[in-house]
Amino acid sequence: MSKEKKKLTTAFGAPVGNDQNSMTAGTRGPVLMQDAHLLEKLGHFDRERIPERVVHAKGAGAHGYFEVTADVAKYTRAKFLSQVGKKTDVFVRFSTVGGEKGSADAERDPRGFAVKFYTEEGNYDLVGNNTPVFFIRDPLKFPDFIHTQKRHPATNCKDPDMFWDFLSLTPESIHQVTILFSDRGTPATYRNMNGYSSHTYKWYNNKGEYFWVKYHFKTDQKIKNLTRQEADTMKSKDPDHATRDLCNAIKNGDHPSWTLEMQIMTPEQARDYRFDIFDVTKVWPHKDVPPIKVGKLVLNRNPENYFAEVEQAAFNPSNLVPGIAASPDKMLQARLFSYHDTHLHRLGPNYHLIPINAPKNAPEASYQRDSFMRVDGNGGGEPNYWPNSFGGPGPDKNDLEPQFKVEGDAGRFEYQHPNDDFVQAGDLYRKVMTDQDKGNLAGNIVGHLGGAQKRIQMRQTAVFYKADSDYGTRVATGLGLDVGQVKKLASMSQEERAAATVK
Ligand code: NDP
Repeated sequence: MSKEKKKLTTAFGAPVGNDQNSMTAGTRGPVLMQDAHLLEKLGHFDRERIPERVVHAKGAGAHGYFEVTADVAKYTRAKFLSQVGKKTDVFVRFSTVGGEKGSADAERDPRGFAVKFYTEEGNYDLVGNNTPVFFIRDPLKFPDFIHTQKRHPATNCKDPDMFWDFLSLTPESIHQVTILFSDRGTPATYRNMNGYSSHTYKWYNNKGEYFWVKYHFKTDQKIKNLTRQEADTMKSKDPDHATRDLCNAIKNGDHPSWTLEMQIMTPEQARDYRFDIFDVTKVWPHKDVPPIKVGKLVLNRNPENYFAEVEQAAFNPSNLVPGIAASPDKMLQARLFSYHDTHLHRLGPNYHLIPINAPKNAPEASYQRDSFMRVDGNGGGEPNYWPNSFGGPGPDKNDLEPQFKVEGDAGRFEYQHPNDDFVQAGDLYRKVMTDQDKGNLAGNIVGHLGGAQKRIQMRQTAVFYKADSDYGTRVATGLGLDVGQVKKLASMSQEERAAATVK
């Protein structure tokens, strides 16, 4: 039985009789203005691209579910975490950070690891990375930092001077720089890496007790990285290798999964802790706060359409559900604003109606109306204001986060413990890395930092030396720098070091 032939139509449903020949006056043209089909087709094509994400532009995504495997009800009242065995639909987007939409998946870069949980209490977005820490702890530095990872304003090329000038003048970045330049900076695939909340969040339970928490999604596929040489080859062989790998694995029924482990700290532990637990440049050492397994994340369905489901996916750390709240982490606080603001710009004020972003298990019941692309019924004739006496939805105080204390003088405060910044980078180098890891780390740094001006090489190598003298010595030797001079720079204060290496 032959299938009925589908008719081509315009965007407004009118049948199209010819899609190969524009309407012209005579066989040689010119083209007539009244060819409405041609004008509609070109006009839509001209507007196909939406603004690229300023960061995390290149990404891949998949659908799946999250399953609770341990009882955490005593820590959080979040309904999706309330019972062992409970499953919640998720959509996950992985990404690189600095590259454009067409850049290679094998670039050295942190990887985004964003999870949207479609819970019965609204969407919960956990927007993390494959690194447990970040380069900076204050959001005022973020736009400058990103500029240095992108292209030079005059040459439009990636620029090692910009990259290392900023980092060497921002030594709190040393922990993240050490992770980034280890082979974990070039994961073999998106399936072979961990995901971290990086930030500290708050969980609170039904009794109003709260806890500080960090999320770790540990890959069940095992960590696998590319060496610098393998990554360089991969960039030209298949710039989309990680995107392709994720799609193929799911298509072949090899569904990737991650075990969610939580670090949970009581307010009492946090008060006396030896460093600021909200500082995103630091981890909580596992021996102080052992991670506990609480769930499993499984990806089992590819998107049917990349633009609809991945390019338009909009994650927002301020999409929280009752039982989960923000912490005072300054970077997180700024992200609570910036993500929604970005989506308003990229996708428009009604981006929450786009199916991938819609809270499908807790439909919207707000008083927000109108604006561009209001594609549902816009609330029909229901009241569009609150309070009202016509049966419109009302707030329920049981859904409030318990009150919490905030105190302190307002001001712009310098970081109080700058020497702390080198401890965990040094720990990673000394205690966690094998000799092979250390050699690869130094080689990866030398290959990149070697492109910067010598005075910047010196300043950054002094920062490595401050984390660990062997680390600094290896990099200095690889770059052919005078280790004695590096050591001297490392003994200076940050201000003295900056003054000694100024242009
Ligand atoms: P542990 O020995 O208990 O844990 C070490 C952690 O380091 C493991 O989670 C391991 O991840 C991870 N790791 C191994 N190689 C690298 C690498 N090249 N880059 C980043 N992480 C790596 O140590 P501590 O908890 O005392 O932490 C020591 C250092 O380990 C920290 O300063 C930090 O740099 C790093 N780290 C710590 C984490 C934490 O939450 N405490 C999380 C991730 C890193 P895996 O088990 O997946 O191999």
